[in-house]
Amino acid sequence: TTQIRVGIVGYGNLGRGVETAIGLNPDLSLVGVFTRRAPETVATVNDSTPVFAMSELEAGRDDIDVLVLCGGSATDLPEQSPALAAKYCIVDSYDNHAKIPEHFAAVDAAARPAGTTAVISTGWDPGMFSLNRVFGEALLAQGSTYTFWGRGLSQGHSDALRRVPGVAGGVQYTLPSETAIERVRAGENPELSTRERHTRQCFVVLTDGADADTVRAEIVNMPNYFEPYDTTVEFITADELKRDHQGMPHGGFVIRSGTTSEGTKQVIEYSLTLESNPEFTASVLVAYARAAARLHKVGDIGAKTVYDIAPGLLSPLSAEELRANHL
Ligand code: NDP
Repeated sequence: TTQIRVGIVGYGNLGRGVETAIGLNPDLSLVGVFTRRAPETVATVNDSTPVFAMSELEAGRDDIDVLVLCGGSATDLPEQSPALAAKYCIVDSYDNHAKIPEHFAAVDAAARPAGTTAVISTGWDPGMFSLNRVFGEALLAQGSTYTFWGRGLSQGHSDALRRVPGVAGGVQYTLPSETAIERVRAGENPELSTRERHTRQCFVVLTDGADADTVRAEIVNMPNYFEPYDTTVEFITADELKRDHQGMPHGGFVIRSGTTSEGTKQVIEYSLTLESNPEFTASVLVAYARAAARLHKVGDIGAKTVYDIAPGLLSPLSAEELRANHL
């Protein structure tokens, strides 16, 4: 069997994760990284990985089976996914839930006439969590679905707290409420408010002379970001920030709790504990890149989400091998 040839578009946290993940999958090979920056300024994890300018993709290279798009969801992917789907099979991790239908339509309109296969919005949420919400709801027609996130580093909330006057640096972790999870696991089907689902934990380095109580009040009362939650603020030194808060942990739970007859409770739980959010997201993207290449080979083109892709296509094993050893 021949390898699936993959290109990485955009080289940040996710791009580095995809480079590493391809190395763990012998049926995939890495063609190189494509970046908007000057290629010689981009240092890859593996020194031997070729780095090319984005413009190298314009002509439509025939040595690439799938591009894994690793740009940001805010401004990169709405532009890059449709443009590249007009020439290549692609996979992206577009995570702006409210705009997924719009993104799907734009990518599908580019992919169909080009005859390419484009998997959008994969990763873990959207992605594996979306799949598990649908499994839960399809299998337990009567019940409630819960998604809890964390413990995880939130980039958006960390940025927000770093903009508070008197803050020199800091990070924010989102924590699922243990009490809420226990009630859901017990099959109580509780109605949970925003405040009851998650708490927020901030670690902050103060600027010289800043008043801790003023900074704390400014953070916990910030509308939308912190005010709707129980937020704790802990002050630490710049050295502690560097030593203890460089990782990008995340994860969470999808729980479907329902009944199949009067008083008969059934609970389904899917949970992720991730030391590195981007490395895990990248691992999911790479499995969907394999599926995209296989679908393209049998002429199944157009935009797809995780809901459209059979699980066996994610595995490096063949359908025959899966039937023989894994059912
Ligand atoms: P980054 O900010 O690290 O990278 C985004 C882009 O910015 C890169 O593709 C790169 O493009 C550019 N870039 C990266 N580093 C630099 C730099 N030093 N200087 C200038 N430009 C740089 O984002 P992440 O990789 O962390 O995340 C990408 C997206 O993944 C997020 O926006 C999020 O939407 C999505 N995501 C989805 C998840 C899911 O579960 N579905 C989970 C996690 C993330 P270029 O090389 O062209 O310059």
